[in-house]
Formats: sequence, C-alpha cells, structure tokens
Amino acid sequence: MSRCMKTLFINIITVIMTTATVSQKFVLAPLPYYKHSLEPYISEQTIIFHHDKHLAGYVAKLNELIEGTRYADMTLEEIVCQSDGAIFNNAAQTWNHQFYFDQFSPTPQSEPTGALAEAIRGQYGNVEELKEQMSKAGLALFGSGWVWLVCDGNKNLSIVSTQNAGTPLTEGKRPLMTIDVWEHAYYIDHRNARAEGIKSFWEVLDWKVIDERFNKCCNR
Ligand code: MN
Repeated sequence: MSRCMKTLFINIITVIMTTATVSQKFVLAPLPYYKHSLEPYISEQTIIFHHDKHLAGYVAKLNELIEGTRYADMTLEEIVCQSDGAIFNNAAQTWNHQFYFDQFSPTPQSEPTGALAEAIRGQYGNVEELKEQMSKAGLALFGSGWVWLVCDGNKNLSIVSTQNAGTPLTEGKRPLMTIDVWEHAYYIDHRNARAEGIKSFWEVLDWKVIDERFNKCCNR
C-alpha cells in the first residue's frame, strides 16, 4: 500500500471511529428559512457562521460532554435547568440559539396582535416603547449575553438580561423572544456597531412567532 493510500485509509477509519463513539443525541435543527433570505438585515455569511459553525459547535460539544452521564437521557430543557459548568454552557447555548433562529422570517409579521399586543400596551404603552427598552438593555449589556422578553405565571411581561449562556429558563420564566448580543451575532455585518445589529434584528423579527409563544405559555 502506498503511503498516500495508507494515510487516506487511516483518515477514513478515524472518522468512522469518531462518529461511532459519540452518540448524536441532539442534532442541529434546520432553519425555517433560506440562509440568504434575511438579507439585507442579516447576511447569509452571518447565518453560515452563526448557525452552521457556532450553534453546530455547541451541539457537537454538548453531545460529547453528556455521553455516558446522567444527562444523556434528559431533554435539552432538563439539562439546561439541572446542569452547570461546561455542560450548562453548551446546553443553554444550544437552547438559546434554536429559540433565537426560530423567531425570524423573510416576511415577518411587523407587529404583535391579540393577547400579546394587549399585554404590551398595558405594561409598556406601545410596542415601540418595548423595542426601545429592549434595545437599550442590549446596548447596556457588558460583554457577551442575551436580552429577553419573558412572561411569568401571571402573564406579566418583563425584560431580562443574561450574561454569556445564561437563560431565564433557570429562573422559571418563559422566554418569548431574545436578542443575541454576542459579537458573533453582528460582527460580520456591522463590525463593532452593536446598535446597528439590534436595529437589523427588529426588521426580521416575526411577531407571529412571538404571538404564538405568548398564547402557548402565558395566556392561560
Ligand atoms: Mn450567538
């Protein structure tokens, strides 16, 4: 066997062994839209890096870390609520990103409706004020993290900021939407201008998804 053939053979065996030893419990959820379809607000390149590399990396790392542990049989949400350290970081980042990517559309509903619209009017006056307060929270967050709109068991809305992989799930609050303010979410399109990234976020946020999330978990 030539040296080249031998190297190829070893590489193939390594790939097979690597895939065989880590079970792929969690898989990278496909996007509900084409990668280029949020342009010009979020570029295809940002989606490729953010979804196919950052999120895919968290999913792969999570699978690797939970293999053979008590977390291996849990749902993603159970892992987020019961773990800490590296397992928490990778599980929460997987949950946060799937939740984040699911809320966009190339043809978004531009305003909340129904029960959510009513709740926002009652607490914030109007949707522009809510957007303003969330955007400000995003700019004020030092370092990496997330800004969330959440509701509690009494249908009260609130804006919550979390650092790094942090999520309101661990505080028993139900997230309705989230702004990713990690630099990787906006740096390709806007460089250091986080405010521009947040402005773009609102252009593709599909309020239909947020209405549905509110009706499902907060409108009992
Ligand atoms: Mn991110």
